[in-house]
Amino acid sequence: MKLDVAAALIDGRLVPGGVEIVDGHIAAYGLAASNGTARGIAVPGFVDLQVNGFAGVDFLETDADGYRVAGEALLETGVTSFLPTFITAEEDDLLAALAEVPVSSGGPRILGVHLEGPFLAASRLGTHPPAGRRDPDAALLERLLAAGPVRMMTLAPELPHALELIDVLNTHGVVVSCGHSNATAEQAEAAFDRGARTVTHLFNAMRPLTHRDPGIVGAALVRDDIVVQIIVDGIHLAPATTALVWRAAAGRVALVTDAVAAASASGGSYSLGSVELSVQDGAVRAPDGMLAGSVLTMIEAVRNLHALGAPLESALDAASAVPARVLGLTDAGRLDIGLPADLVVLDDNLEIESVFVGGEERVVA
Ligand code: ZN
Repeated sequence: MKLDVAAALIDGRLVPGGVEIVDGHIAAYGLAASNGTARGIAVPGFVDLQVNGFAGVDFLETDADGYRVAGEALLETGVTSFLPTFITAEEDDLLAALAEVPVSSGGPRILGVHLEGPFLAASRLGTHPPAGRRDPDAALLERLLAAGPVRMMTLAPELPHALELIDVLNTHGVVVSCGHSNATAEQAEAAFDRGARTVTHLFNAMRPLTHRDPGIVGAALVRDDIVVQIIVDGIHLAPATTALVWRAAAGRVALVTDAVAAASASGGSYSLGSVELSVQDGAVRAPDGMLAGSVLTMIEAVRNLHALGAPLESALDAASAVPARVLGLTDAGRLDIGLPADLVVLDDNLEIESVFVGGEERVVA
C-alpha cells in the first residue's frame, strides 16, 4: 500500500515524497505522488513512557477490557507504543496490577510497565500514597519483577541501598529513571554513573534547582548521556522552564503525558490508584490540591513544545525516537526501510488524519 503524503520524517528530517508499506513494514519513502494529490506528513507513531490511565481507565485497577478501551483511545492521539504506569501502591495491589497487563491491547504496543515507585523519597511523593512507599528492598523488587513485564522503574537514588537496586534493575534489563527524589547533584551523578539513564518528569517532585544546590535537575541537564522526561501541558512547567530544558537538552528530551483516567474521558469522577481526582481548567488534582498527573495527549505535547520554539522535526522526535532510545528499542519511534509501519499522518495544522500500527490503518479522522 502507498501513502500519498507530502513528506515523511526519517531520522529527524522531513524527506519529501510518499511512503510504501509492504507486509506491515516500511518498504520505501520519497516516492512521487500517484496523482498529484500528496498531503500531510507521515511521522513515527508516538511512544509514551508514562501513562497512568486513559479514557476512564486507571491501569492500576483494570483488566484486559480496560486496556482495550484505553488502547483504542490512545491510538486516536497518535500513541502506537506505551508503558502503562503504576504509581506507588501496596505490594498486593502492584502484584495484582502487574499480573493483569496483557501482552497486547489490540491497540498500541504495550512495551512493559513503568513502575513509578514504591522506592521513592518520603519528602517528594507528590500525590503518591505514603502507605505504599518503601525504602529500597531487594526482595520486594524481585517479587515485583517476577509478577509482570516491568520495563522501567522510577526510584529515588539517595535512599539507602538504591544504587544496589540499580544494579539489579540493569541486570534485568529494566531502565532506571530517577524521580520523586530529594537527591543532591552528587547523589544523582552517582546514580547516572551506576546506570540510571533518565529522569522522570524533570522539575516535578524533586529537589529544586538553586544556584549552589543544582540537585538532580542541574545534574541531568548538564549531562549529555541522560534523557530528561517532561510534561509539556502548560501546567506542570512554566513555558520558560520548558524552553530552558529545551535549550539545555534538545535531542535528549522525551515528552511524556503522565496521563490519568480523566484524559480523553467524558467527565465524571476518576481515580489514580487510591487517590480521588478532580479536573479543573485542564489541571488534575488530588483532594489536597496536589497535581496528580494530566489530561494531556501526546499530540498536544508535541504542539505545545513546537509552539515554544522547538523545530517541528525535533518536537516529533521528542515524542518518538528519544523515548524509544531510552528503552533501547531499535524498531520503534522511527521510520525507515524495514522498520514496522507504526506511523501517524498529520495535516498542516498538526491534526491527526490517520494512525497505523504494523501497517494497518487503525484510526481515520
Ligand atoms: Zn510522578
